[in-house]
Amino acid sequence: CAESAYHKAQAAGAEHLHFYSSQLNEKLEDDLKLIRELRKAIRTDQLTLVYQPKVSLLSGGNHAGFEALLRWHHPELGQIPPARFIPLAERSDMIIDLGKWVLQQACRQIAQWREANIPFANIAVNISPVQFLDPQFFSELQTLAHQHGVRGHELSLEITESVLIHDQAALQELMRAIKEEGFHFALDDFGTGYSALGYLKAFPFDYVKIDQSFVRGLPEHQSDASICKAIISMAHSMGIAVIAEGVEKLEQGQFLAEQLCDQIQGFYFSVPLSVQEAEQWLNTELILPAVMRPAGQPER
Ligand code: C2E
Ligand code: MG
Ligand code: MG
Ligand code: MG
Repeated sequence: CAESAYHKAQAAGAEHLHFYSSQLNEKLEDDLKLIRELRKAIRTDQLTLVYQPKVSLLSGGNHAGFEALLRWHHPELGQIPPARFIPLAERSDMIIDLGKWVLQQACRQIAQWREANIPFANIAVNISPVQFLDPQFFSELQTLAHQHGVRGHELSLEITESVLIHDQAALQELMRAIKEEGFHFALDDFGTGYSALGYLKAFPFDYVKIDQSFVRGLPEHQSDASICKAIISMAHSMGIAVIAEGVEKLEQGQFLAEQLCDQIQGFYFSVPLSVQEAEQWLNTELILPAVMRPAGQPER
């Protein structure tokens, strides 16, 4: 009887394993299909950029530009989030073409807005580690920027800590060359990766972006509050400005304003916008709630 129970359990285990591996296979097939579809998407107009506003707090509320975020609308599968397809693209060579498309689109938008005299401040573009480390990246950036007459301060590059573990000297040289063209660098998702504080000293960042996972718990979660405070004061002491992402609530913005965070970005002010909506956004006067205004700043 004990033996038959044992055999039953074994059979169930094997079945389970079989189920597990067929699930894995399905996932793999889905992934491969998605990669093929993504290749098509670039050619067939399924991709767009949306633009999420950044708001400057220190000056009492100014438009501080936009972060460009990629959107994929597949004709049958519908909207596919970047969290699903970017990692896949990163594991294949697709991210290079995809990244190029994004950069080109952003440069075009910059040229369009400038020609129309629309004061957009700047556009920040996410650059995947694979794309950034591609030997062609710098010259392609230069070519694109030149083609569209992009001025340095109009374009900011968001990279994550995972890039910085590579050959430090080579990266420093690359970043310096890019900065010489006037472009700005933001360290994205700060605090979630390897987070060696030395990175802030070793690489020429203009901005640090506090990851939304630390903003979420503000202001009541003591550890999140401490982390945000520490990032802001540390960055400032090195002359680096701070952008908080994922700000959804007034109290979060208030806390960040009290800590002299430079810019905030998040659903509290706006979700990512279409080009047309972004233009409307720029046409609307920004009025910061009183609790987000620097002390002594009069109401406008
Ligand atoms: P990220 O660069 O950290 O971008 C911020 C993400 O937070 C965006 O998600 C944005 O829509 C979302 N977000 C903004 N405000 C709020 C808020 O108040 N609450 C919450 N819950 N979320 C907020 P999205 O657009 O889904 O992008 C996810 C990630 O995908 C990005 O994180 C970035 O790492 C990557 N990504 C997006 N577009 C591109 C791209 O063009 N190139 C590359 N390489 N990566 C991209
Ligand atoms: Mg980003
Ligand atoms: Mg981020
Ligand atoms: Mg993120």
